[in-house]
Amino acid sequence: MSRVPGMTLLARDHTRSATTAWKRTLASVLHRSTLRSRKKTLQSQISMAYPRMQSDSLTIADLINVRSKKMNKVYPAGYSRHGALIEQLMQDPKTLLIDTRYSPNSKISAWAGSALKAKYGDRYRFAGKFLGNVNYKGGPMMLANPARGIQGLVMYLNEGHDLILVCGCAEFSACHRRLIVDLLRGAMPEVGVVMPEQIESKRGK
Ligand SMILES: [Zn+2]
Repeated sequence: MSRVPGMTLLARDHTRSATTAWKRTLASVLHRSTLRSRKKTLQSQISMAYPRMQSDSLTIADLINVRSKKMNKVYPAGYSRHGALIEQLMQDPKTLLIDTRYSPNSKISAWAGSALKAKYGDRYRFAGKFLGNVNYKGGPMMLANPARGIQGLVMYLNEGHDLILVCGCAEFSACHRRLIVDLLRGAMPEVGVVMPEQIESKRGK
């Protein structure tokens, strides 16, 4: 066998095995060029979606993994019920704690904005000015500046972060987290929203 089996054999004669070998060589060349062009497309898609990712250094396998990887996750959570889970989720360094309270004060000192800032540093983001419910003391739920708030969430997700949307309320359905999630789903239909109960039931609690 020569080093380029298909071509050499094809030039020499047209035996059946030579044709098969040539077809195989052609198929492998085409396969590689398809992967190369696919890699180019994926790299440009990824550099748009993940501006901070060095896509040039990734292998094809990495790129395919990134593409098939699920969208980053959003966990709406009330610390009065899911405090322990929030702390566990924050062990992942790519997760941000998005404080959606209009006022970041708490009767529980560990959940005051200042304490969370001290604990998580830059991974704590106070978003209450935009995503807070201006009527949190009573009246119809109304987000302070939903357009800007949702824009910020979309940006963090595109940067590759998972987000915990935190408020004090135990009940999601009675909290403005529900409004935020509805708007976010409208802006980013592919977003993966995970309720704390889903994680807890998976763990068999
Ligand atoms: Zn709430």
